[in-house]
Amino acid sequence: MDEKVIEKDCINRLCSRCDSQVYKSDLEDYSYQCFECDEDLYFIETYVLDEEDLKK
Ligand SMILES: [Zn+2]
Repeated sequence: MDEKVIEKDCINRLCSRCDSQVYKSDLEDYSYQCFECDEDLYFIETYVLDEEDLKK
């Protein structure tokens, strides 16, 4: 059940640098990780893809 919550939280969150989807980081100091950049990201280095934007 916890896994589903995490998945949902990440599903529309993207990397500010490369616009790839990010995932929960394994590191305590970081919130997310980007596999494209091969870096761990702070919360502020990511953004949520707003579904409203997709409709435009
Ligand atoms: Zn990235």
